[in-house]
Parts: sequence; C-alpha cells; structure tokens
Amino acid sequence: MSSFTRDSEGMLSVGGLRLADIAASHGTPLYVYAGDGIRDDFTRFAAAVAPVNGTVHFALKANSALGVIALLARQGAGADIVSGGEMERALAAGVAADKIVFSGVGKTAAEIGAALDAGIGQINAESQQEIEMISQVAAARGVTAPVALRVNVDVAPKTHAKISTGQRSTKFGVSTSQNEAATLYRQMAEDAHITPAGLAVHIGSQILDLDPFERAYGALLEFGTALRGEGLPVPILDLGGGIGVDYQHGEPTDFTAYGALVEQIFADTGFRLGFEPGRSIVANSGLLMSAVIHVKHGDNKRFVIVDAAMNDLLRPTLYEAHHAIQPVGPLGSMEGPADIVGPVCETGDYLGLDRMMPSLAGGDLLAVMSAGAYGAVMASSYNTRPPAGEVMVLDGELHVLRRQRSVADLLAEEELPAFT
Ligand SMILES: *Cc1c(COP(=O)(O)O)cnc(C)c1O
Repeated sequence: MSSFTRDSEGMLSVGGLRLADIAASHGTPLYVYAGDGIRDDFTRFAAAVAPVNGTVHFALKANSALGVIALLARQGAGADIVSGGEMERALAAGVAADKIVFSGVGKTAAEIGAALDAGIGQINAESQQEIEMISQVAAARGVTAPVALRVNVDVAPKTHAKISTGQRSTKFGVSTSQNEAATLYRQMAEDAHITPAGLAVHIGSQILDLDPFERAYGALLEFGTALRGEGLPVPILDLGGGIGVDYQHGEPTDFTAYGALVEQIFADTGFRLGFEPGRSIVANSGLLMSAVIHVKHGDNKRFVIVDAAMNDLLRPTLYEAHHAIQPVGPLGSMEGPADIVGPVCETGDYLGLDRMMPSLAGGDLLAVMSAGAYGAVMASSYNTRPPAGEVMVLDGELHVLRRQRSVADLLAEEELPAFT
C-alpha cells in the first residue's frame, strides 16, 4: 500500500497527518516524504538480497537530504556517492566512511584525496586516466586506495535514453570487449598504491524488465571469474542500481524477483556483492505539494497554474517523465482534462499534461506523486524561484529537513561589483 492514503473524509494524508494541514503550517511548494515508506522500501530491498553475501549502498544522488540519509544509515545502509559534496553529506548524516562507495566518471584529484583521507570503503574507477590519478593521489599520502573497476558490458537497459548508461556508446565504464578492462585490472593489481576491490556495473535507471540485469550480471560474473582464473584478487562484484518504480499508481516496488535473479546468478560463486539502489528506495515515498495560483481557460484547454515548477521538479521537462497528480482534498467528480503547469517562462515548464482533474480554483492543493527520487536534488533557482522546502513524516511526527530558502538568501550568495 502507498504511504499516502485518504482518510475517512477523503483528505490525502501521510502517517496520520493531513497534507492540507502540513501545507497550512509549512507552506507550498513543499516536498513531503513518508519516512516510514522509505524505511520499509529499504528494509524490503535488503531482505530481498539477504540470501547473497552483500552490502547495500543507497545512491545519494536520488535524494541526498541529510534527514533521508540519516534515516537510511540507521537501517544499516551505506552510501553510493558521485561527488565530494555527496561524501560530505554522507559523513555528516552518520554513514561510516568504510560504507561509502565513490562512483562517477569525473572525480577530481581533490575529491579523491578527500575520500582517501576520510578512509572511504571503495572507489569505482572509470578509466585508465582515473586509475593513474588515484594511484598518484594515494602515493602522495603513502596509502593504498581500494579501487573497483567499473566495466561496460554493452547491455541496453531499455529505458529512457538520458538515463541509459550500459551501452558502449555512453561515457560510462571501461569496455570488457577487446581486453581493455582486463588489461586495466591487471595494471591495478600491480600498482603498489591500489588494492583491487573488484568490478562494478550500473547499466541505467528506471529499468522495469529483469532481462537487462540478467544479461549484464551474467557478463560481469563471466568477466570476474576469468580474472580470478588468472589469479587476480576480485573480492567484490558491485551490481549498481537501476530498479524501476511504478510512476502510474505508486505501488511499492516488489524486489523479490530481483533478489531471486541475483541469487540464481551469484549463489555459491564466492563473490561479495554490492548494491546501489537509489530511485527504488525513495521515489514513491515522496510527493511535491503545490497550491493552485490561477486556472486559465485557453482554446478548449484548461491550464492549472500552480506554485511549483520545473525548478522544483525537473523530471517532466527533462525526461518527459510521468508523475501522477492528485488533488490533496477529496477527489470529487472530474471536470475534465487539464495541463498542470508552473509559472516559469518556458513552454516545457509543466508537471503533467492532459490530466483528468476536478473543478479547481486558486488556493486548492495538488500533490505531484512519486517525487521522492531525482526531485528536490535537481532543483534550481531558475527565474529566481527559491526551491521548495522538504519535510518528512516519520512515526506520525513531522520533521523539517530543509526550509525553503528566501529570495534574500539567494541574493546574499552574490556580489554586486563596484563598477567604476
Ligand atoms: C545513479 C546511480 C545509481 C542509482 O540508480 P537508481 O536508478 O536510482 O537506482 C547507482 N549507481 C550508480 C553508479 C549511479 O550512477
């Protein structure tokens, strides 16, 4: 069951609190997270992969609010990070450094140095140049760096092009064909400042079909086994994230088939496994609440103009992503279709097109569902709009995770030059 339910009077609620009351006390636009739902999804993921020997690192880039990371850290989650900034967030939220995996195609020497200084668990390297940089940075500190090699096994994940990372044509990983990856792994094993940690894959995001995972994991196992056959140490196979969620109805993700697939492929192979789920842990436990500003009737079209926009939630604009949109008040009868749009001066600024909606007026509240992943983390202040604040309801209590910044906060980040 979804974390967001309707109470006896039809009011959308979370953890016993009405969203309308949360809007009254904390304003809009506002991200609202169901902490219980996030905790449940993580627990169910961990249970699904429990039969294999593995560790789960939550991919922070899906939702890096300190409160979300801290909640997951308390459940035993590690962190998968893609920047030095995310490392600082993970550490600040209480994730132990040795439970952090540093992914990403362009880590700087400063970021690698900070990661080694913190005692990071694993760095996933993506190129020969990066391996050399890691080795130099480690040598300068007199330490050895735990490095896994992110490989590209050339599997198309059958998802949106902008979130596909598994094919050779993308910038990600080192190809396992033509010996490139094997040569690099041997080089890592000979490097005095690198401890080879194993191999990593991540083929893309919002993957709803198990078949791409099956092919990628099969190829990874084959490659890891071949390297072991040469006598090289390959302790860990890091399987990445990418599990898709139901954006239509927000039904909780069933991780059991994924877990069974992993067990079927890797049981008794002797590899330790790593997992990096992001979206599937947080997407359906978040929504973006917004108030109607005006309802405008165009040529046989109804535009519902709301106070959230593409600067708060970019996914519809960037990926043509679908988010279900619900009135926060009782559903009532539908008046007809409407485009739910923000105030930003871009035609691409919409949250949903052609949605069946009841009669709406200024002040009515709408909830853009399944906005817990890749929502607030992608916010900007385009049009000098301070991005939405974020709150979490956990065990029936409301916690502010981030206040909406003020325009004064935005202006304070800038300098007015003393032109002569
Ligand atoms: C984005 C990313 C993830 C998380 O992907 P989801 O689709 O959100 O599960 C995991 N690992 C790496 C390397 C990533 O870049």
